[in-house]
Amino acid sequence: MDCAFDLAHYGELLEAAKTGGYRFAFFDREPEAGDLLLRHDVDLSLGAAVALAELEAEAGARATYFLMTRSVFYNLASPEGERALARLRELGHRVGLHAVYPQLELDDRFDPVVAWHNPDPEFMGEPLDGAVNVMQPRFFDPDHYRSDSNQHWRNGCPHEELAAGGFEWLQLLTHPEIWAYPGATMRETMLAMLDAERGRDLQRLADDRINLT
Ligand SMILES: [Zn+2]
Ligand SMILES: [Zn+2]
Repeated sequence: MDCAFDLAHYGELLEAAKTGGYRFAFFDREPEAGDLLLRHDVDLSLGAAVALAELEAEAGARATYFLMTRSVFYNLASPEGERALARLRELGHRVGLHAVYPQLELDDRFDPVVAWHNPDPEFMGEPLDGAVNVMQPRFFDPDHYRSDSNQHWRNGCPHEELAAGGFEWLQLLTHPEIWAYPGATMRETMLAMLDAERGRDLQRLADDRINLT
């Protein structure tokens, strides 16, 4: 396996987890041995989130998607945002808030679970009133956590360790954009995403009755 950051290898990661005997779990209770908590921080693209969500549902996997209400890249309150939210729920996934510190606007679109966007160490793991912080110590420690930040696994791709049942339990953070768009580096992936967004923006303009003739 070449451990590419693409949907095919994401599917292989899910298969590896099944081979390793993991069960898909959420942030609604203490992690137990054999739990795999699939976490997705949706920083840039709802389309990428839905693409990954569909793949997971087909593979029988369930994840928690963390969506932003204050993104500069998408609008969760737009019809497109509402459709994405509904689709994630329909597919059996959970939806948490990807919050920008210190704003915590947990409304009824979200389960009571929060992941801070680009957190500073001072508040990253602090417990919250009335909601779970995914980085608080009972859900996070370095042995039970892997992340694809900037298209790079600090400890290597976890598929082999998953297949071997090497993690007692694991919180696996992945960013849908990295997997849904092609590119061997974060820069290439981001350029591919921007190309795709251009097509979407043209459609959005047409939908907004802009004359493009
Ligand atoms: Zn791999
Ligand atoms: Zn983020």
